[in-house]
Amino acid sequence: MKKPLLGAFGPPETNGHRLGPMQSISGEMQRFKDTDEVDYCIVGVGSAGGVLLQRLARAGFQVVGLEAGPFWNTERDWVSDEKGSHQLYWTDLRITGGEDPLSLGENNSGKGVGGGSVHWAAFTPRFHPSDFRVYSEDSVGADWPIAYDDLKPYYELLEREMPVAGPAYFPWGEPHGYPYGPHPVGEVGNTLIRGCTKLGIRVSAGGPVAILSGSRGDRPHCIYRGFCIQGCKVGAKASTLITHVPNALEHGGEVRDRSMASRIELGSDRRVKGVHYFDKEGRAQFQKAKAVIVSGYAIETPRLLLNSACSGFSAGLANSSGTLGRYLMAQAGNVILGRFDHLVRLYKAPPAHAMTEEFYETDPKRGFARGFAIQSVGPLPIAFAKQMMAAKGAWGWGLRRVMMDYNHWSSIAVLGEILPWADNRVELASEKDQFGIPVAKVTFNLHDNDKKLIAFAKKKVTEVMWAAGAGEVVQEDRYAHLVGAARMGSDPETSVVDRFGRTHDIANLFVCDGSVFPTQGSANPGLTIQALAARTADYLISQGDRIFTSDARDMTQPPIRYNLSPPGTFLKGMPRMT
Ligand SMILES: Cc1cc2nc3c(=O)[nH]c(=O)nc-3n(C[C@H](O)[C@H](O)[C@H](O)COP(=O)(O)OP(=O)(O)OC[C@H]3O[C@@H](n4cnc5c(N)ncnc54)[C@H](O)[C@@H]3O)c2cc1C
Ligand code: SF4
Repeated sequence: MKKPLLGAFGPPETNGHRLGPMQSISGEMQRFKDTDEVDYCIVGVGSAGGVLLQRLARAGFQVVGLEAGPFWNTERDWVSDEKGSHQLYWTDLRITGGEDPLSLGENNSGKGVGGGSVHWAAFTPRFHPSDFRVYSEDSVGADWPIAYDDLKPYYELLEREMPVAGPAYFPWGEPHGYPYGPHPVGEVGNTLIRGCTKLGIRVSAGGPVAILSGSRGDRPHCIYRGFCIQGCKVGAKASTLITHVPNALEHGGEVRDRSMASRIELGSDRRVKGVHYFDKEGRAQFQKAKAVIVSGYAIETPRLLLNSACSGFSAGLANSSGTLGRYLMAQAGNVILGRFDHLVRLYKAPPAHAMTEEFYETDPKRGFARGFAIQSVGPLPIAFAKQMMAAKGAWGWGLRRVMMDYNHWSSIAVLGEILPWADNRVELASEKDQFGIPVAKVTFNLHDNDKKLIAFAKKKVTEVMWAAGAGEVVQEDRYAHLVGAARMGSDPETSVVDRFGRTHDIANLFVCDGSVFPTQGSANPGLTIQALAARTADYLISQGDRIFTSDARDMTQPPIRYNLSPPGTFLKGMPRMT
């Protein structure tokens, strides 16, 4: 060796747009003019929007993604610090109400390129086949206009694109394995595994989670320090910011960050013409587009469509059914915390790495429809302090004492299926945001089935915690993962979009994000959202320019375009590729 291995140390390289220690975007990004009529304008470059942008750009379309938040430079903008990372969230004003109001703001949805995939824990279970036919099987909720088999190839594809680490055999739903081997288990995961094993409940260890268990391409493997919900500065956790957006830019896609869409313009020919938005400097602009896709999250998507009400659609754009904003869902997310004599250290390892879906489907003996999953969670100190205040009423000196005991607590959570109800909805409030745009008002009520399910699930998870050996057990009521409010269906009278995400009312207006879910299962929604986005993109690509001119609806299933995946998707390598 002629030179010393390390050489001189210097400050981290700051030029270029950095997305991780080894990943950066080089080269100029495409910049379309507002006066250019692009093919697609996507509102929101989050979980769904990032995948759509990448696919459509790669297929050769002119595509602009308007994103309300920043285009993160992870070296410059992110810190591995719980308080310092709260900027990742959508904390603009939202109004919440109803008998069981959802807490909105921090720990809810993302704002910035990558959206919620930046701060998600990255649990990536698939939906079960039963999730797509809830009404037919259980006489509650609704059926999807697609089946599990329609989405299965996209699950397999996205599990490689992210990629997902998990067991070789995952027994629930349609059994399957994962492309990357499972992660080592931290003590939080051990709590769940120990408790479940004692009670004879099958449990999955080490995933499924979209975190690299072995390095791949320009992304390093996980270093197990538990800052996943703070954005993962390491780049081991998948987010569309690092998995799809770079490839979109390489193929001529544009991300216009800090650009807040305020209204979609409808022409007299009943076709949308583009999107009004406020740019980085707060100036009103208009991006012309041949078609628009709204991917703004289950609250901001209905908000934008409601704010786009116009002649012919006085109750909101594409809302002839009156269902826009309705059937909003959250999952029950009660956290059960247990104190152990031994050290647990909640921050060690990704929070998401052990789970069971043993209680997922309806069991008539339980007296309610549908079910729940149980998952590991790993709150950092601020989140833990809030949980202790809610669960134990800890305050003042009592809170200080319990915080000093932080390293002895473990936590596992319910992920329960709350059904879609028409009265759970997003409307417009009289309050306005910093741009003068009416904000969302969210109403949420638990119904009888939901309450029974939550009571049963809480009891079961508490039993698991005791069985794991806890000396004290407390719990916090919580919700997670908002979806619905612009649901897909075959009937234009009862749904907003068709099975490819095209609004029933307007031929060149699409919705593609978690808001199209008719039901939500007990699986975390992110993988399904991205799989649906890849499927919608395949549909749009197969339709070609017809989308821009024709009102005819071709409902043929499109071919799956494996050649449009980001580079490295089909890399063979460690530790296990099937
Ligand atoms: C703490 C936490 C942990 C989570 N963990 C998991 C997990 O482990 N697994 C899982 O599957 N899911 C998880 N989720 C949920 C997951 O993050 C979301 O379900 C998912 O990101 C939603 O995808 P989306 O495409 O619907 O919206 P988003 O990803 O939220 O994207 C919407 C984007 O649109 C932008 N936008 C909105 N309105 C406008 C506008 N008017 N103009 C311009 N831009 C706009 C937003 O800024 C945002 O970037 C978690 C969520 C939270 C809060
Ligand atoms: S635990 Fe792993 S995935 Fe999570 S922040 Fe750390 S390196 Fe990233």
